[in-house]
Amino acid sequence: MERRGDSGGAGCRADRRWLHHDPARAPRLRRPGGAARHRGRVKRLRRLLKGLGAALLLLLVVLLGRTLGSGSRQVTVTATASGPALQVDAKAAAERLGQAIRFPTVSSRDAALFDRAPFVALLDWFEAEYPAVYSELRAERRADHSLLLHWPGRDASLPVGLFLAHLDVVPVEPGTEGDWSYPPFGGAVAEGHIWGRGALDVKSGAVALHEAITLLLAADFQPERGLWFVFGHDEEIGGAEGALPIARWMEERGQQVGFVIDEGGFVLDGVFPELGGRPLAMVDIAEKGYATVHLRARGSGGHSSVPPPSTSVGRLAAALARLEAEPFPLQFSGPVEQQFAYLAPEMPFLKRLVLRNLWLFGGLVKAQLAADPKTNAMVRTTTAVTVMNGGVQENVVPQQAQASVNFRMLPGTSEEDVLAHVRRVIDDPEIELELGTVTHPPAPAEVEGPVFAGIARAIRTVYPDAVVVPGLLYGATDSRHYGGLTQDIYRFHGIRLPVEDVSGFHGTNERVQVQSYAKAIELLARMMTELAGPARPDAAE
Ligand SMILES: [Zn+2]
Repeated sequence: MERRGDSGGAGCRADRRWLHHDPARAPRLRRPGGAARHRGRVKRLRRLLKGLGAALLLLLVVLLGRTLGSGSRQVTVTATASGPALQVDAKAAAERLGQAIRFPTVSSRDAALFDRAPFVALLDWFEAEYPAVYSELRAERRADHSLLLHWPGRDASLPVGLFLAHLDVVPVEPGTEGDWSYPPFGGAVAEGHIWGRGALDVKSGAVALHEAITLLLAADFQPERGLWFVFGHDEEIGGAEGALPIARWMEERGQQVGFVIDEGGFVLDGVFPELGGRPLAMVDIAEKGYATVHLRARGSGGHSSVPPPSTSVGRLAAALARLEAEPFPLQFSGPVEQQFAYLAPEMPFLKRLVLRNLWLFGGLVKAQLAADPKTNAMVRTTTAVTVMNGGVQENVVPQQAQASVNFRMLPGTSEEDVLAHVRRVIDDPEIELELGTVTHPPAPAEVEGPVFAGIARAIRTVYPDAVVVPGLLYGATDSRHYGGLTQDIYRFHGIRLPVEDVSGFHGTNERVQVQSYAKAIELLARMMTELAGPARPDAAE
């Protein structure tokens, strides 16, 4: 410290160090040491930016690689390989569907309300209207009102193919009949449409299968493998008398089944404007599971003038509110991921970038899908509070209250998961839980195999610009009873419609376009030739 006045390098450094600690002079003299640190900081920042730049570049390469890496998954159908020429008389076919709609084949869980006569009349009408079908194929009535048609194949050793459709329809909600443009059981053919209950779900499928077989018989087509057609009469109430025993019977006799085609996806217009007018053909490879949970709250009753802080009704209502406030988490299941894989290459660049990079944008896509109830069901197990009962009179404290909550489960979610979710979310051990009806859908069908490819070829023969994608059906169909016979279950009947007409399903003004119905007949016939016809040279495509 005494050498403060000395000149020389070491001294100077010492002085500076000393000066640096003089608070009065520090601001001016601090600069030289600060500059070194500043340079260090700049260097670090540069390194960081370089690193970030490299990471961004890598991200860009990965994003672009994934976006551009895979081409279209759509099959190409050549004119020479599109099968026999099939000519559908659209007007006559529409009139026949109209006639079939006039049989009010409404199924009901209440046996007393289940009118069997229209079913018998419809089966008789089929026989009268499609004589070629009933002379070439073997018909069998099951459980009085379900129908089985056997079309023998050339090669009896091949597993048979099953085509399903149900004969029953849901009732029209009393009081809404007047809202229909044409009577729900009138079968009117007007304004380019066939109107009525069953026009979409799914009398159109049952009648169109008869039309398709007739067309193929006229074209001298004989299937290689046997084709069986099963028409259940109680699908809308679970299929316990129709499809279920028929499927059990097939299992018991050791019937080999190659594939099942049932109702489900449509050829939809207007889903994605980005497809530029190309229709989206959704072949549903899976359907959601079904589980109902019954909740019961109990409490001591009494006079409502001296009530407890919360009655059983209030307690149950709070539990239900919690269930609605906390739905199942968002999730991409296998079928939805596969749908995106088929859809992405057909989309414009930005959408393709997002769909091909769900590892990065998945959260965004899920949030967008969840915002609309129609697509929310695609990305989560849904919660629907459907029934609530409690209380007997306004001045009596209720002793108990019950509610039912219906869950539609994504593939991979079980009823145990649902119960655990309910228990955790309501967080009220006093509320009793009981599992109601549960149905398990079969595992998702294969999309890389020959059946999906055959369906895709049939679709692209009839609609060459269609974008064919696998899909997940939100509802349940008769096909789930056949899970023990084959995993290759596809839900697609080939009706084309604008996406807004889907609301006709179980709703008001159910209708199908005459031209679309005629094309669906051709499409069903093409599916039969693709899946049961002789192998074609381009079949491996
Ligand atoms: Zn249906």
